[in-house]
Parts: sequence; structure tokens; C-alpha cells
Amino acid sequence: MEHMLIDSFGRTINNLRVSVTDQCNFRCIYCMPEEGMVFQPKEEILTFEEITRVIRIVSTLGISKIRLTGGEPTVRKDLPVLISMISEIPGIKDMAMTTNGFFLKKMARDLREAGLPRINVSLDTLDEEKFKQMTRRDVLHKVIEGLEEATRYFQLPIKINVVAMKGYTEDDILDFALLARTKPYQIRFIEFMPLDADRTWSRDQVLTGKEIIDRIDSKWPLEAVTRSNQREPADLFRFKDGPGEIGLIASVSEPFCGSCNRIRLTADGKLRTCLFSLNETDIKEPLRTGASDVDIADLFIEAVKNKEAGHHINDPSFIQPERSMSAIGG
Ligand code: SAM
Ligand code: SF4
Repeated sequence: MEHMLIDSFGRTINNLRVSVTDQCNFRCIYCMPEEGMVFQPKEEILTFEEITRVIRIVSTLGISKIRLTGGEPTVRKDLPVLISMISEIPGIKDMAMTTNGFFLKKMARDLREAGLPRINVSLDTLDEEKFKQMTRRDVLHKVIEGLEEATRYFQLPIKINVVAMKGYTEDDILDFALLARTKPYQIRFIEFMPLDADRTWSRDQVLTGKEIIDRIDSKWPLEAVTRSNQREPADLFRFKDGPGEIGLIASVSEPFCGSCNRIRLTADGKLRTCLFSLNETDIKEPLRTGASDVDIADLFIEAVKNKEAGHHINDPSFIQPERSMSAIGG
């Protein structure tokens, strides 16, 4: 297939993250406000047919990987129907989903049977009280049950996303490392990024990847894993003395923008070429006003040409985008 989505820095885009809803049943402190989040009205949210049409079009431009996200994707009604529609698109070679895990006990099997091979589960702490503080929901047991159910159906190891925040994550690092050593889970620590709705992010709240790796390495020595696919954002480490992997997504302290291969479609049909984009391209309106497949394809090609070189979190002039993480689709 000829790749048509190449940006002005020579990066080839093959990965589209699709937000299927901006709603969520959690209120994580690093993502949503405790109260007062305003959601898009239903009619602004792309339908399954619209999402599938966009994916079919971009698959002809070289997009082969789809990640479903949100908001919380499992709160979107009839999600397995969308998954089976996407899995029928020939150009899509890989589909995954990021979820908070709450509904997995109930849904894992249906999602798998609909054609979803892989999931990431977000889980920031193994401590009940801290889980309640971080997600503002007292449901750690539900996520653990969901995760266990997921191991029966999805590709292993299941990746667990842990947002690393100073004052929260330090005491969990070794517990998560132990989990990676003993269970079919790859633990991926993600540095806290300035995408929180409360806009309280500050650099001193970021627990860096290096601090995490040093802590684990001093108890269980680690070695870096070299991978054939260097376009994955996570740096990967394995334990020298046995099984288990730790991933690091050091977006703040060691940006990987130079190898970024992704773009994002928000639940309300806006194309974003970077998590931190200050501009977006409207896809929904053209979809609803008779644009042809070629017109839609051109919107993607043009937007990708203007993809940002990288984020500016580390510049004094950094401007946090208007949308917070749940409204973008992380
Ligand atoms: N609701 C799903 C979940 O939590 O997995 C999917 C959407 S969530 C926005 C996607 C990922 O972004 C999660 O792993 C979440 O922990 C992460 N995330 C949210 N806000 C973040 C922030 N400010 N910095 C870093 N990661 C963040
Ligand atoms: Fe919801 Fe995911 Fe954001 Fe948490 S990180 S509030 S689960 S969208």
C-alpha cells in the first residue's frame, strides 16, 4: 500500500486513535474535573457509520492501526457492534482499546468475540484508598476483576497504563513491578502530562521515567529491550533475572515526537494531529454535508502535512490545549 499520510518532517502516519465518546464513569484527577464536565450533545458525536466510513477512507491512505479510546469507550452503547464493523475493514491490521477496566468483567468476552484482539487497562494504584482519591470512585475491586477477566480473552501480556504522579505513585512502583514479574501484565508508566481539566499540572508533579526505572532497578535489575519497531512511544525494559516487562512513556522528560506516527479523531469528529494541537480539522461537517471519500481523504492528507514537529511542554511559551484529555481521546 502506498502511504499517503506523510508529514512535512517525513514521518509516516499509520496509527489513528478514535475517541468513541467523551463521557466517562470515572473522574480521574489528572484528566477530568470532579464535577461540572460539559459533554457533547448526542447529535454531535459521530455515529458508528460515520466512524467506520472515516476509518475505511484512511485505511486506503496507509492507516493500519486503530486504537479505540475516549472518555471511557465501554460506556458507548453497543460498542461491540462498532468493533465488528471496524474489524471488517481489510486495511486495518491491528485494533486495540484503552479502557479504565470497570466494565471488562461484563464485556471482555463480547469485545473479543466482536473482533478486538488487544486492550490496555488504566490502573494507577493498587491501594484502595488511593484509587478512590485518584479516580474519585471507590471501585478498585471492579477494575481488578475486569483485568482478570480480560486475561482470559485478550492478547497477553495485557498492558496496564499507570499515570505517574509525584505524591501518588512512588509507593506503588515496586508493587506494580512485582505484578509485572508475576502476572501476564506489562506495566507502562506514563508521565503526567498537562492535559488535566483542572489545569493544575505543574512540572514538580511529574514523577519521571528515570526515577521510576531507578527505583525498580535497585530492587530487581532491569535491562533495556531493543525493538524492531522503534516507533512505539514506550521504552521497554525487562527484568534481568526472570520474566516481566516495564514500559515507560516519558512524554514530558524525554519527548518522542520525532518518531510520532499517530493522529487522533475526537468523538465529535475533529481531527487532531497532536495531543497538544491548538488547531483541529473538522471532519464531521463534511461527512454530514455530502463530502466524497476523496474530499475526506484530502482533509486528512492536508492536516497531516501540517502536523506539529512536537509538543512544547518544556518551553516557557507552552499553551495547554482547550480540550482536556477525556475530550481529546488519550
Ligand atoms: N477512559 C480510558 C482509560 O482511562 O483508559 C481511555 C481514555 S484515557 C483519556 C486514556 C489514557 O490517558 C489513560 O491511560 C489515562 O490514564 C491517560 N491519561 C489521562 N490523562 C492523562 C494525563 N494528564 N497525563 C498522562 N496520561 C493521562
Ligand atoms: Fe475517564 Fe479515562 Fe479520563 Fe479516567 S483517564 S477520567 S477513566 S477518560
